[in-house]
Amino acid sequence: MHSSLSSFTFYLILLVQAYGVSSASWGYGYKNGPQTWSGACQTGLRQTPIDIRTMDTDYALMDRVNFIGYDQVAGVTVQNNGHTVSAAGFAEWDKKPYISGGALDGKYYLQQFHLHWGQQDHEGSEHKIGGLSYPAELHLVHQKDGLSLGEALTRGDGLAVVGVFLNIAENGEPLAALSQKLNEVIYSGNETEIEKIRPRSLLPSLTDAFYRYEGSLTTPACSEAVQWILLAEPITVTRNQLEQLRKIRNTEGEEHESNFRPTLPLNGRRIRFRPAQYDRLRFCSSSYSISLFITVISSILAKTFF
Ligand SMILES: [Zn+2]
Repeated sequence: MHSSLSSFTFYLILLVQAYGVSSASWGYGYKNGPQTWSGACQTGLRQTPIDIRTMDTDYALMDRVNFIGYDQVAGVTVQNNGHTVSAAGFAEWDKKPYISGGALDGKYYLQQFHLHWGQQDHEGSEHKIGGLSYPAELHLVHQKDGLSLGEALTRGDGLAVVGVFLNIAENGEPLAALSQKLNEVIYSGNETEIEKIRPRSLLPSLTDAFYRYEGSLTTPACSEAVQWILLAEPITVTRNQLEQLRKIRNTEGEEHESNFRPTLPLNGRRIRFRPAQYDRLRFCSSSYSISLFITVISSILAKTFF
């Protein structure tokens, strides 16, 4: 009895050592919140989330993000992991949904999505735009083609996360499939199935405009492995759906006071912004410049030689 107990304790110690912290030990409360997270969460220099400020942002020529296989409809497993509600299983679909373009190198396969929120409307999103928060934020997590999760976490470009802001409105379509199941995953450890979900429904109609920067996971171990794509256009969430989210319980069995990490310094990073109209503007302005240049040159030549 005694020896089996001590070998169990030994196994537990090994487990904690292997994974750094057990998943139950971190959270968003006073005792286990972001200020207490260790490792890269404290020492990293390319941490997420950030406040997107105009002064730190440059217009950039980037391809649109291609969302391939996002119109399929299939099933996923929804889980309350004590930190958020996440839906996974896309990687087992016949045609795995993936993203490319958007200044990413290669394909990134959709693994799961999850949400961050607060108890009040003026906060909840992890990223901020010019100091302002949205009431919630959706993260679509993608893993680079050909890498295991372990490998992806050790590379600066191992993961690509698409961040989508949520705005309160009357259209409940984007979160409809998930919200119908939220009452089945109120407590940590609860799991249920969504039989039919179309990933495209989680995206705004316009995905051409986005912010792009190099960052990290926003939960321990805060691995600096993420290429961030933050869509400028939000999706909508109804007040009712948001209230459902706010009832989700954490590891301690309490409603999340919030489950968003506060913003962190850029440490010299620049944010790239792709406006929706970029292609046309760029084309028009450059062709206009060229025609102006030709007009000026030909008028000079005309005066010189004729
Ligand atoms: Zn997240």
